[in-house]
Amino acid sequence: MDALDRARHDLVDRLIEADRIERQSTERAMRAVPRHAFVPDERREAAYRDRPLPIGEGQTISAPHMVATMTDLLAPDAGDRILEVGTGCGYHAAVTSDIVGADGTVHSVEVEPALAERARERLDRLGYDVHVHVGDGHAGWPNAAPYDGAYLTCAPESIPDTVVEQVRPGAHVVAPVGRRRQELVRLTRRADGGVDRESHGGVRFVPMRRSDS
Ligand code: SAH
Repeated sequence: MDALDRARHDLVDRLIEADRIERQSTERAMRAVPRHAFVPDERREAAYRDRPLPIGEGQTISAPHMVATMTDLLAPDAGDRILEVGTGCGYHAAVTSDIVGADGTVHSVEVEPALAERARERLDRLGYDVHVHVGDGHAGWPNAAPYDGAYLTCAPESIPDTVVEQVRPGAHVVAPVGRRRQELVRLTRRADGGVDRESHGGVRFVPMRRSDS
């Protein structure tokens, strides 16, 4: 095990110690996915500190504890088909992909073509089966719906109905919501067509853009 691998396991140990990781599948994925391979070269040494990092085009990769929390809330299982909005560098998608495994699929929509292209190339090289699409996540990705879960890594003012409609009954949608003040929200689509909403505290994410703005 080299120094970066050891640093990753130390980080996961600290997150567990701080009760930031609940599910075993989340822990396994966070131990497995090399976050340092997703950040710019000059940031590699910082990859296993628990903080966000710039990834180019004015965007940031979330802090590891935030990826862990969102993954616990989404609660994906092996074999699931998951929708991500906001591919960024592809790290969070890789964590999800690790959990859903070879029988599952991750579809990820990214509005910024340069980021999508780099993430696609990187995920491919590292062997993650993630389908990266360029587009505005307000429309979700209808071609592969229905999903067993969906999450956004950019903050809309309210979670787009279109995305909620693309998950099956019983599935979760996890997203940061709001403008300046944001909260992490988990919606659960009910069988009767209604939606349950829980708040999971204050967060800070980049705003969700409209592709025409
Ligand atoms: N999950 C990412 C973090 C991405 S940061 C990671 O692990 O790196 C949020 C991303 O959302 C940015 O890449 C940004 O370009 C993208 N984004 C913003 N508005 C969007 C929209 N309307 N549709 C899709 N992606 C969007």
